[in-house]
Amino acid sequence: TVRVRYAPSPTGHLHIGGVRTALFNYLFARHHGGAFILRIEDTDLERNVAGAEEEMLEGFRWLGLTWDEGPDVGGPRGPYRCTERLPLYREALARLEAEGWVYPCFCTPEQLEAERQEALREGRVPRYSGRCRHLNEAERRERMAAGLRPNWRFAVPAGRTLTFDDGVRGSVSFVSDDLGDFVVVKSNGMPTYNFQVVVDDAAMAITHVIRGEEHLSNTPRQLLIYEALHLSPPAFAHLPQVLNADRKKLSKRDPNVQPLHVYRDRGYVPEALVNFLALLGWSPGGEEELLPMSELVARFDLNRVGHSGAIFDVEKLRWMAGVYLRKLPVSDLTRLVQDQLRRHGMALPEGTDAGWLERVVALHQDHLACAADFIEEAAGFFTPEVDWSDEARAVLGETGAADVVGMYLQLAKDDEDWSAEASRARFRRVQQALGVKGRHLFMPVRAAVTGAIHGPDLQQTIALLPKLWVLARLEAALR
Ligand code: GLU
Repeated sequence: TVRVRYAPSPTGHLHIGGVRTALFNYLFARHHGGAFILRIEDTDLERNVAGAEEEMLEGFRWLGLTWDEGPDVGGPRGPYRCTERLPLYREALARLEAEGWVYPCFCTPEQLEAERQEALREGRVPRYSGRCRHLNEAERRERMAAGLRPNWRFAVPAGRTLTFDDGVRGSVSFVSDDLGDFVVVKSNGMPTYNFQVVVDDAAMAITHVIRGEEHLSNTPRQLLIYEALHLSPPAFAHLPQVLNADRKKLSKRDPNVQPLHVYRDRGYVPEALVNFLALLGWSPGGEEELLPMSELVARFDLNRVGHSGAIFDVEKLRWMAGVYLRKLPVSDLTRLVQDQLRRHGMALPEGTDAGWLERVVALHQDHLACAADFIEEAAGFFTPEVDWSDEARAVLGETGAADVVGMYLQLAKDDEDWSAEASRARFRRVQQALGVKGRHLFMPVRAAVTGAIHGPDLQQTIALLPKLWVLARLEAALR
């Protein structure tokens, strides 16, 4: 049976590329009725960030990605945090040592850096020279006795071609002579990624390793370790990089591409994000792009993952997010909006209540990609004054605009009825009296009352705004 894992290092926020990798693993597991496992790769102690693991689990829960085994739920092949698995790495190292696959390296960081610089100066790819590989037993013992703590390096065999069949890229080959003897266990006793990942994937009976393309060049090293440990490797599939609109690798500094928690904080609908991320490098075939999780699971297939980079199109995300947001019951959207109001320290205007908020939310529902958009779109419902945009000012400067605004103001002042229907009746009277209609009738009032020339239904907008605010804004427009 299929067993796949997502194996983040808890070094910071969960980024979009990582979420996409986790999602593809999840979809693959569910499609095949297999297991999806979370493993926390926390052996690079200096890089671990407190709270990062919990944030990641929270993020996956929010997206609806459930896991069958993991640090919080446990499972038959745990523990699921690598720092709790140190005896396994020790044992595997002993096996490699017994068969002569590894040797202790006593080179200092300074020596290694000097080697590296020399290689770069001579235009060679930096690679460990193999100096310590040739130490004899007596020399090793002598250095150990002097208290030196070695790194353990893998003795890469010369002249090998390492080939594997990648689930996305097809046949991929590397030449062992390019690899250099790499470290498997560091002097502090911690395994390096390449070693840890092999020991854990084997011990956890992982059948398919689905991960980012940046790990492609690690795969030949991992294949050598599988071989040395007499283990058969899993299948590999390397996902194309996620690129920004300029076809550059996503950068954490790109303002358009945020870590997962930002989308959550802004009140995106998680199903929309799942749908969007599933299409980052995978194509369902056919035209339909709006696919709920159950459809994604039913259709997911590594054969339809492309080789070339997947473009993160922010406009498409906003479009798709809006589609999902419009499908929310207005009460659910109102809850998301309430959270946004809290985050922005905004209170409901005096005299309004939760029912009012829900009506204002319903009025804006078609214009939002996420709940945070409401804060900007509906700003005029939370402060007495509005700022007029340049377009709004231009409309108010047109001939006849002041007459329309002035008459509408007079009628509104005396009107007992503050409904949308009453506002419509006021416009009819202005139309009859001044002989203006259409754009020239509505636009000046919209501009005066909302500060903008586009927006949701004008009659409803006026009816939901406090009467005093509407009168004040109309008066201000006449000054
Ligand atoms: N901890 C590795 C990472 O964060 C996992 C890579 C893999 O899936 O093998 O990239």
